[in-house]
Amino acid sequence: MIKNTLSVVIPTFNEEGNIDLMYSKLNETISPLSLDEVEFIFVDDGSHDRSLELIKNLAKEDSRVKYLSFSRNFGHQPALKAGLDHARLDGVISLDADLQHPVELIPEMVKRWKNGADVVYTKRKDSSLPWFKRTTSKLFYRMVNALSQIKLEDGVADFRLLDRKVIQALRNYKESNLFIRGIIPSLGFHQEAIDYVPNERFAGETKYSFSKMIRFALTGITSLSAKPLYFSIYFGVFFALLAFIYGLYAIYVFAFGNEAIPGWTSIIASILLIGGIQLIMIGIIGIYLGKVFAQSKGRPNYIISEKNTSND
Ligand code: UDP
Ligand code: MG
Repeated sequence: MIKNTLSVVIPTFNEEGNIDLMYSKLNETISPLSLDEVEFIFVDDGSHDRSLELIKNLAKEDSRVKYLSFSRNFGHQPALKAGLDHARLDGVISLDADLQHPVELIPEMVKRWKNGADVVYTKRKDSSLPWFKRTTSKLFYRMVNALSQIKLEDGVADFRLLDRKVIQALRNYKESNLFIRGIIPSLGFHQEAIDYVPNERFAGETKYSFSKMIRFALTGITSLSAKPLYFSIYFGVFFALLAFIYGLYAIYVFAFGNEAIPGWTSIIASILLIGGIQLIMIGIIGIYLGKVFAQSKGRPNYIISEKNTSND
């Protein structure tokens, strides 16, 4: 297959301060690569600022600019998926709209791809990130790795180049709760990594609120593995064992002791403890059940209200 055309996918949610600069930087970096065809796909994830308007202005001037606009905010992963679904060219680069992913890395990514890599992913060396983001991100990767079969590398985000055949493989993943970052390593193919230091976000604030981050982490863990479900079994066995031993003790007291009912405190304590654990376990099972429910309804990951491109 010839590798001489490139799609660039940019999930965009309220990024009015970044779009123009993003576009001109991309243009500047990609033009010297003299590719046969290039398209820039901005996926507007239900922005309520002027993002879509700015993208449309660009599209008017440059026919390589494509846009998809969601009917509401669906989240970063669905936006990324939509972009990948609509990318038509030989290779597809995805990156954030806020210039944190250095555009300057693109020539090197393209070079590696042309030299045979099917996936060129990037690893963040995050010395410059704020403490909170750095710590929660580290915790997240550690948890995913402990709780699932897949090994996610620390600092791997959605800044990567995928070959056409990887995109095809990815299109067969019809999960309603997408976690693309976890799926890519499991696909196989020839994968190469490049290290980078992220820039400061250029304009605006992070669009990942704390609650979005928690939801993202839970999606990540529960879509990569069913391990948390086993917790309930381990916990159950452990407490059944404790209960059995305590039961033996109770019988012993009943048969040989002569005290009345002094065990009130321990009963309350164990009821509360076991009650709490049961609630946690039901919650875990509930998350999975919710996923099965969503999947069985076959709902789409995103709804497009406007676009100037079509998939394949
Ligand atoms: N984004 C999106 N939908 C969302 C949240 C974020 O499309 O609901 C986009 C956002 O515009 C940006 C990228 O996803 O291009 C990463 O978001 P952000 O920079 O806010 O995350 P952070 O870098 O702080 O992790
Ligand atoms: Mg960012």
